Amino acid sequence: MDKKKRVIFLVDMESFYASVEIASNPELVGKPVVVCGDPEKRHGITLAANPLAKKAGVKTAMPLWEVKSVCPQAQFVRPHMGKYIEASLQITEILYEFTDQVEPFSIDEQFMDVTASQSLFGSPQHMAKMIQKRIWDEVGVRARVGIGENKIQAKMACDRFAKKNLEGIFELNSTNYMKKTASLAVDELFGVGSRMKRNLYKIGIYTIGDLAKRPLEEMKKRWGVNGHILWLSAHGIDYSPVKNDSTELQKGVGNSITLPRDYIYKEDIQVVLLELADEVCRRVRALHKRGRTISLSFRGADFNHPTGFHRQTTIPFATSDTIEVYQASLQLLEHFWDRQPVRSIGLSLDQLEDDREIQLDLFSHPIKKLQLGKTMDEIRERYGKTAIFRASSLLSSGLLFDRATKIGGHEA
Ligand SMILES: [Mg+2]
Repeated sequence: MDKKKRVIFLVDMESFYASVEIASNPELVGKPVVVCGDPEKRHGITLAANPLAKKAGVKTAMPLWEVKSVCPQAQFVRPHMGKYIEASLQITEILYEFTDQVEPFSIDEQFMDVTASQSLFGSPQHMAKMIQKRIWDEVGVRARVGIGENKIQAKMACDRFAKKNLEGIFELNSTNYMKKTASLAVDELFGVGSRMKRNLYKIGIYTIGDLAKRPLEEMKKRWGVNGHILWLSAHGIDYSPVKNDSTELQKGVGNSITLPRDYIYKEDIQVVLLELADEVCRRVRALHKRGRTISLSFRGADFNHPTGFHRQTTIPFATSDTIEVYQASLQLLEHFWDRQPVRSIGLSLDQLEDDREIQLDLFSHPIKKLQLGKTMDEIRERYGKTAIFRASSLLSSGLLFDRATKIGGHEA
């Protein structure tokens, strides 16, 4: 065995939310299960569906009325984010028994570097089977394992192959990567979204193989660092390590909410923005971070005629201060809102950096603000989210009280 060769796993959970619900309620076993929000409050879209429901045609984000028509026997379950987070942490614990290098990538996907674990647990294939069994026995969820020599190979092995075969395990390596992926559509490559796909189609790149054949220089010239990364991905090359500190990875923190009714008055929207800014900043402070880029997105009320926007602004000093983030979001609101009714609002703070290196700004006393925010966070943690709130949340458009029992817009 080549000593320099790494063995990386991507461990992914099948229909995670739905699987966790089924694992905790035997009555759901063998039935099509759809995890969805509350129809009364316009959260009535599909968040997750188990394979039986998917087979019937249910898709993520499908509205409930449509689910009822394509799959009348569907069992509807409200989401319980607290349970999913707990299950995710439990899975992380299991993975840590195989290696100390585990990197949660999303709530239901985790990377592992098991290079040094082979002498203890055997071949990668064998280890993957052991991990699947442990997760099934202890959490009741089916895991799929992509195996590669790096993260991109593991991710592609999982998404494009392990999710589609019976045993839920697939291995890509530098020898078979090109052969297995070259004929796949270019948007099957990790990192290619619909926008990039259109760009690539325009210059005659339709498959991963087409992309791999283009000169690196051309990609770099067109799309800079992104072009470089895409070209490397198409070749299955990736040097990034599996990082066990998940907060290091955190690119940004965002929150969004679907409103219980159309909001048409600026004052109402401002109240929601302040609450979102408060929540986002609280989470950013908890990570000991500050951010410089504030993004705001609106979605219109009429889903058949999509309206809305997604815009961002970058401020000169990184912040985790609610009022500063709120003010930046107000500017975006002023500039880009077309006064159409709004049904869904998202706010995020990106380009995060450590909050230990505070910029000296004599005029706005950032250190004091940080301490005030942290104190508020501590009180909320101890006494609940409604212990301290901004007076505007008492207005009818405020959603804080409604949301106090929820995490990420779902019920905890
Ligand atoms: Mg999954």
